[in-house]
Amino acid sequence: ELRLGARVARAEPGGVVLDDGERVACDALVWAVGAASPPWLAASGLPTDARGFVRVRDTLAVVDHDALFAAGDCARFEPDLPKAGVYAVRQGPVLARNLEARVRGATLRRYAPQRDYFAALNLADGTAIGTKWGFALEGRPVFAFKDWIDRGFVRRFQVLGPDGAPTVAWPAMQPRAPMRCGGCAAKVGERALERALARLGVAHDADVELGLAAPDDAAVVRTSGGERIAASVDGFPAFTADPWLVGRVAAVHALGDLYAKGAAPRFALAQVAIAEDDAARAEEELFQVLAGARAALDADGVALVGGHTTAGDALHVGFAVWGPLPHAPLRLGALAPGDALILSKALGTGVLFAADALGRARGAWIEAAIASMLRSDAAAARVAHEVGARACTDVSGFGLAGHLGAMLRASKAGARLALDALPLLPGARECLGFGLRSSAHPENAKARGALRGAAAQTARPEADALFDPQTSGGLLFGVPAARARDALARLHDAGDAAAARIGDVVEPFAGGALVELVD
Ligand SMILES: Cc1cc2nc3c(=O)[nH]c(=O)nc-3n(C[C@H](O)[C@H](O)[C@H](O)COP(=O)(O)OP(=O)(O)OC[C@H]3O[C@@H](n4cnc5c(N)ncnc54)[C@H](O)[C@@H]3O)c2cc1C
Repeated sequence: ELRLGARVARAEPGGVVLDDGERVACDALVWAVGAASPPWLAASGLPTDARGFVRVRDTLAVVDHDALFAAGDCARFEPDLPKAGVYAVRQGPVLARNLEARVRGATLRRYAPQRDYFAALNLADGTAIGTKWGFALEGRPVFAFKDWIDRGFVRRFQVLGPDGAPTVAWPAMQPRAPMRCGGCAAKVGERALERALARLGVAHDADVELGLAAPDDAAVVRTSGGERIAASVDGFPAFTADPWLVGRVAAVHALGDLYAKGAAPRFALAQVAIAEDDAARAEEELFQVLAGARAALDADGVALVGGHTTAGDALHVGFAVWGPLPHAPLRLGALAPGDALILSKALGTGVLFAADALGRARGAWIEAAIASMLRSDAAAARVAHEVGARACTDVSGFGLAGHLGAMLRASKAGARLALDALPLLPGARECLGFGLRSSAHPENAKARGALRGAAAQTARPEADALFDPQTSGGLLFGVPAARARDALARLHDAGDAAAARIGDVVEPFAGGALVELVD
């Protein structure tokens, strides 16, 4: 029975009530009402049609507003078009082109809608009903056809092809300017820092146990009461658009320097630069950053006691952190041949966020990278102490090769690394294999000269992972080989699931190489 011209006043369980009061009972209700415009469009003062959709010219420029464009469901084209995705999708490229043309003062392109489109309704039993040019069809082939169209469309927006290779189906994501990564990839190169410090010179101070004379992850000083205090400052530009996450990761990352020396972080000061384009937005962003930081600091018993905020071009978050060190610091330069090298977290945050910026990372990869970055080094530091680690560092912007190299140089030792044992975050191997690199990778890769190994090893993506800058990377420590198994068991028990023995410290190599790569 078809009821034309009837208006439904309300729906109730078991039926609908028409506006003349009649109740029509039903087992299932299919509500098909069409598109409606959001009320703010009509209220905006823009020219709209009687249903509140924004009137546009054939260039998609809003009528009487040359600098505004509307496309898709919200636009009212002349002639009126059905609110269907097939029109919105084809308007997209015209819109993109015309926005650019408007800025450059070039001629706008006209959008010419197709005269009809294939509409299909999936009946959820393997069949569909379809119409085009006034004809209707029904059955399995109609469903198969619609399914083929939809899958082909969605495939164009997959970041990787079915064989795992990157597709070029998303050209809008290709950067026009060289990309600059955030996080610890935005570090000034190791050599520049070394040269600047060498020019600066070091003032002697008897209360400084670890300072610029032998740069380490954190400074260690003594109070007048003789207590050791470890202190460090660390920060970076935002690596993602979520300020809460940036704040939390920056805090976890800053604490890593203290944990690497065996200290117990107690207090933190925040240094935040924020784009102050809009006061309300800036306040919210600052709140999100500090709330994220608190989530990390509170969990580790660290009190946020102050800070400094400045207006900048973009979000930059850093923390000065300090706390007591109850024993001698775990120095960079205390590795000894025979030590096993233990890494507590997997590598790959640099290349994964570079891939993410290009729209080439899978969501699951980024989730895993974030989970790793949010993990505090506290448990790993406790384990390092329990198993008698002598030397420790936290792996960050200079990559594993840079930080291990600093330990080996200071220890006057070499290392043999097993590439098969290197823990990599999900997707890192694929991204490195595709040739993707963080913007800090080339500078870090200058350490390649300190590696030795056959081409079969040095050409592996795992070898490139050694130069990948890490944001909130794990701890790298050396323990006597006899304690390695125990150290790993404890790390895994504590939740550092990716922790691995990645190699061994050996006698120094002749000829300047620091690290030998083996499979
Ligand atoms: C159930 C259903 C099934 C459909 N099936 C098909 C189909 O099979 N084939 C087909 O061609 N079409 C189909 N359509 C129609 C199609 O989905 C739309 O025509 C198409 O999505 C319109 O694209 P658009 O970009 O204009 O708008 P949308 O896809 O609706 O995107 C608008 C976006 O703007 C956001 N937004 C809204 N207000 C604000 C605001 N104030 N501030 C910021 N963001 C805001 C929304 O969250 C949304 O993400 C279907 C529609 C529905 C509802």
